[in-house]
Amino acid sequence: GKVLVSGTNGYIAMWVVKSLLEKGYSVRGTVRSESKIAHLKDTFKSYGDKLDVVVVSDITKDCAFHEAVVGVEAIAHTASPFYTTAKEPDELLDPAVRGTLSILQSALAHGDTVKRVVITSSTAAIASPSPTPRVFTEADWNEYSPRVVAEQGAAAPPADMYRASKALAERAAWDFVAKHKERIGWDLAVINPPFVYGPVLHEVSDPEQLNTSMVDWYRNLVKSSKTNEQLLSITACWVDVRDVGLAHALALEKPAAGGERIIVAGSPYIWQEWVTAAHKFDPSLPAGNVPFDPATAKYHSRYDSTKSQQVLGLRYHTIEECTVDTLTQFKEKGWY
Ligand code: NDP
Repeated sequence: GKVLVSGTNGYIAMWVVKSLLEKGYSVRGTVRSESKIAHLKDTFKSYGDKLDVVVVSDITKDCAFHEAVVGVEAIAHTASPFYTTAKEPDELLDPAVRGTLSILQSALAHGDTVKRVVITSSTAAIASPSPTPRVFTEADWNEYSPRVVAEQGAAAPPADMYRASKALAERAAWDFVAKHKERIGWDLAVINPPFVYGPVLHEVSDPEQLNTSMVDWYRNLVKSSKTNEQLLSITACWVDVRDVGLAHALALEKPAAGGERIIVAGSPYIWQEWVTAAHKFDPSLPAGNVPFDPATAKYHSRYDSTKSQQVLGLRYHTIEECTVDTLTQFKEKGWY
């Protein structure tokens, strides 16, 4: 069968494509411009014509995906802006929400062969600020960021503009499915990852041009961009990009994933754990706090990933594995 993947040239999408091709699917990718095609074709050249790539220049337009959905058995919608420097909310909300609705509308109108749609959402659509540590589950919705953005507009923190874009886009997708359930022959599954780190398949000219999550990882491990105090105090959750890629492929084929949002998350971390792993791999890299006892790491909130293990059978890479594989690749590329 053939799977449509939107935003195929992105960091996560490249790993989605790799998982799909390895499983034997054909892939039709969409990109915003012709110039993004060569690297994709080159990366997956061993799969020959199992990958074709088409240009959808503006995903927010009605009918944008009308041709792209024809004949595919599943859709993975990953295209959405992820940066935290937006000047006003619509910069992110528009492509996130309208792009999602546009691909679903095309699936409704022309996706007679479509059985399953998987959307790349985020834990940004799940978690809201909590004064005390919490375990978030798929039952939780981030209602905080959409409210902040509605109240403050362009004065809202840009991180909340991004988080609102993910919450509102995912909400719009579920509402669309509920509204049209009598008329659609497919169901929806949603993947909710926290920060995604790991090796890079997409086209990057220079490590400073890496996507939002990986440029932070690169700067923190290679460029010492956090103070020793920050390395111990900043805590978040992460998942390996290879696990996220596989999760999309599994969510397209596991019947039980239909109608589910699925948190795909590894452990919580503090940055010192990454710095320690990097320094162990290559002693020329910064060591941060020495000595460091991992047992003293203090985390805040985390995510329950039980559903991903039960429904998708997913297992997760560790911080050490991710660090070694990613730095090995960065070294080969001459990035540090
Ligand atoms: P990338 O920036 O590498 O990829 C983003 C993709 O979306 C690119 O193909 C990009 O196309 C496309 N895109 C961005 N803005 C627009 C727009 N306005 N119109 C059409 N297409 C657009 O980021 P990631 O791979 O990290 O992100 C992919 C998805 O994963 C996003 O939905 C993101 O929200 C989600 N996500 C990411 C996490 C992370 O830590 N990386 C964590 C959780 C969720 P182009 O190259 O042309 O700009």
